[in-house]
Amino acid sequence: MRRGIIWWTVLADIKSQTAGELQAQFELWRQPVYRVSQVLEWLYLHRTTDWDEMTSLPRALRDQLRNHYSLHSLELVRRQGSRDTTQKFLWRLADGSLIESVLIPASPALYAEPSDRQTLCVSTQVGCAYGCKFCASGLAGLKRNLAVEEIVDQLLAVERAESKARSPKPKVQDGDEKGSVRLHEPCDAPSAARRSVASPRLVSNLVIMGMGEPLANYDNLIQALRILNAHWGGAIGARKITISTSGLAPQIRKLAAEPLQFRLAISLHGATDATRNKIMPVNRRYPLRELTAACEYYLQKKGRMITFEYILIEGVNAGLDQVNPLAALARRLKAKVNLIPYNQVEGLPWQRPSESAQEAFLRALVGQKVLATLRREKGHDIEAACGQLRLKTEQELAHPI
Ligand code: SAH
Ligand code: SF4
Repeated sequence: MRRGIIWWTVLADIKSQTAGELQAQFELWRQPVYRVSQVLEWLYLHRTTDWDEMTSLPRALRDQLRNHYSLHSLELVRRQGSRDTTQKFLWRLADGSLIESVLIPASPALYAEPSDRQTLCVSTQVGCAYGCKFCASGLAGLKRNLAVEEIVDQLLAVERAESKARSPKPKVQDGDEKGSVRLHEPCDAPSAARRSVASPRLVSNLVIMGMGEPLANYDNLIQALRILNAHWGGAIGARKITISTSGLAPQIRKLAAEPLQFRLAISLHGATDATRNKIMPVNRRYPLRELTAACEYYLQKKGRMITFEYILIEGVNAGLDQVNPLAALARRLKAKVNLIPYNQVEGLPWQRPSESAQEAFLRALVGQKVLATLRREKGHDIEAACGQLRLKTEQELAHPI
């Protein structure tokens, strides 16, 4: 008897596709180009999660799309925080994995330009392989990379959840062409102003500082950022997108060659190899000499200021003896330093220094002619510790009371 063979085809998700890629497919289907604009509008203006809601498309085309692409959306599991402070969103993915995004209220720009709209902190992996000793995201290691659409949908899902909480769903008419997005425009076009009033973009800045090491999921990250940046997609300016890395030197060089002008933040947390080796295993692979050379290359290629993130951890890197090496590095790389009081993680021994010790560290750094800030806002506490809500939820699921 012949054994039957079962074929599985994994469909590409429509939110992993650029306008150009969709256009190529629509040409094969002999569909007019304006149909692509309509689909993009449903996805990125109306944040539609169901093919059947795309009522301006003929039913046959909807069926063709359904058979050719998946349309996955993140499922909200838990939400923490209030609207005027920082809010954390815990999402369940199709395979049951949990990830977090964090919405930070309007503030005087921590990384990019000032804005009266909000900043979204986005995850790029489930867990993290880099195992920094202070971080909740790395505690259980890496489960997997996020797919392009799982990165992209964090913006759409947060906005969906927020607009649901704020107002009734905007009504969209059949065949409504108002606010149609146009194709063939430069990717970096400031298009927010062109958006439909029914669907204003709530988020204006992205920080890729959620769970995971973004540069270890390089290709999916860059494709997702192309979509989040494009005028037909997320419409968030590249200069308002900050990528944070623990220091993957080769990928920093690769990023320098990308055409888009993203901002780069380095999680430094130690200005000497001795200190970094203690808390960041990645430093044994790419010690400071290699990391700083890659940063210099980035600076040379992009001409954009780099930010050093420096968590202040009591008894590890917050002593005044660390100021000189940190100031020397920052001056050499013309980097700005963001000092962040450590946010305690349950089960880990580390603590933040006293406020007066934090202030003294800042004063000493500024005294060495370094551009530096100390994050004091209470609302940002939970933002700094992405990975904790997932950890807590997984622990609760494993040991229900
Ligand atoms: N993997 C990337 C991006 C995600 S981590 C990176 O390491 O840069 C985002 C930032 O949060 C990093 O600077 C990280 O060091 C910091 N962070 C992690 N745990 C923290 C904690 N408990 N308190 C404060 N900052 C933390
Ligand atoms: Fe991974 Fe960044 Fe956490 Fe280090 S700080 S374990 S690189 S997420």
